[in-house]
Amino acid sequence: MSFIYDIVVVGAGPGGIASVVEAEKAGITNTLVIDKADTHSDMITKFYKKGKRVDKDWQGKKFEFIGNVRFEECSREEFIDQMEDLIQDEDIADKFLYNQEIYGVQKNEDGLFELDTHNHGTIKAKNVIVSIGRMGKPNKPGYKFPGPIRPVLNYNLSKVKEGEKVMVVGGGDTAGEYAYGLVDLGMNCEVTLNYRRAEIGRMNPINKETTEKYLEEGKLINKLGTDVESVEPSPVEGQVQPQVKVNFTDGTSEVYDRVVFALGGTSPKDFLNNSNIEMNEWGEPLYNEDTMATNIEGLYTIGDVNTSAGSIALAFNHAFQAVGDIVERNK
Ligand SMILES: Cc1cc2nc3c(=O)[nH]c(=O)nc-3n(C[C@H](O)[C@H](O)[C@H](O)COP(=O)(O)OP(=O)(O)OC[C@H]3O[C@@H](n4cnc5c(N)ncnc54)[C@H](O)[C@@H]3O)c2cc1C
Repeated sequence: MSFIYDIVVVGAGPGGIASVVEAEKAGITNTLVIDKADTHSDMITKFYKKGKRVDKDWQGKKFEFIGNVRFEECSREEFIDQMEDLIQDEDIADKFLYNQEIYGVQKNEDGLFELDTHNHGTIKAKNVIVSIGRMGKPNKPGYKFPGPIRPVLNYNLSKVKEGEKVMVVGGGDTAGEYAYGLVDLGMNCEVTLNYRRAEIGRMNPINKETTEKYLEEGKLINKLGTDVESVEPSPVEGQVQPQVKVNFTDGTSEVYDRVVFALGGTSPKDFLNNSNIEMNEWGEPLYNEDTMATNIEGLYTIGDVNTSAGSIALAFNHAFQAVGDIVERNK
């Protein structure tokens, strides 16, 4: 008979890490966490700017920790270190399996779940916690990205280089943080913020205030109130990589070294579909708010995959609730 885990967690972000820690605390040690990236906390590594403060009460919402996993407000780097320390302290590093993208979870007639991996065969589990976030598939604009400029049309700041002229597109918290964050990084970048509405309405109070202040002070170039109509290559003499010519709906055009789109992310609908998890009209899973249980017994969704108003503290709390339910069901 092949090996059967008590709990397999998909996703090694805050929710996934907290799930395996909560399981340990509850005496369930036969667990595995699978992530498509080559390390834990990959979304935070990729999408948070360097040195970003990691807030407990994210997006103006107050959170109380209800489980065993918590964190101190700190920088992005310190947060990742805190997670690494937690993994070492709990002695659970060997429970993480990286570089394996999972496309769905199947429950068989024998009541066991099966997860197919690239090079570790089919993994079997009694319970599965899905903590895959929602940043896997960033929202893309409707217009075409011509081939030559694709390398400089990005969804996060990781590729931005010293001294570049960058336009950030979007009106939410991530767009604000990218825009003023890039100014603060001291990389001598000229940063423009573009949003189709003339007013910023969708940011939390801190981000709104900071973004508006930077726009007023001219630290950020204001391109609010007009949408991007199309993007095209703008060749530069002696340079292989063309710049991006952006054509706006107000008839103006401007050339940038790079454009960063922060248009939000969508719930990974395909994964939920492949796993037969029932969803609402926005492609978010339907789950029990007390237990995190989906329509399939033994299958749980936690953290950002459940809600666009997610946070680290919420993902930690969801992990506690899901593991608590697994413990209850096995009594
Ligand atoms: C720019 C930015 C700033 C933020 N700042 C804060 C803040 O200050 N404070 C705060 O509390 N929150 C903040 N948040 C929100 C917070 O990061 C999230 O709520 C939190 O990371 C959610 O954790 P999670 O485990 O649900 O998902 P994620 O952190 O998204 O982790 C999901 C994991 O699943 C993996 N994965 C995805 N799909 C698959 C698959 N098919 N197979 C295998 N693995 C997969 C990914 O590689 C990833 O490691 C911020 C978010 C962003 C984007």
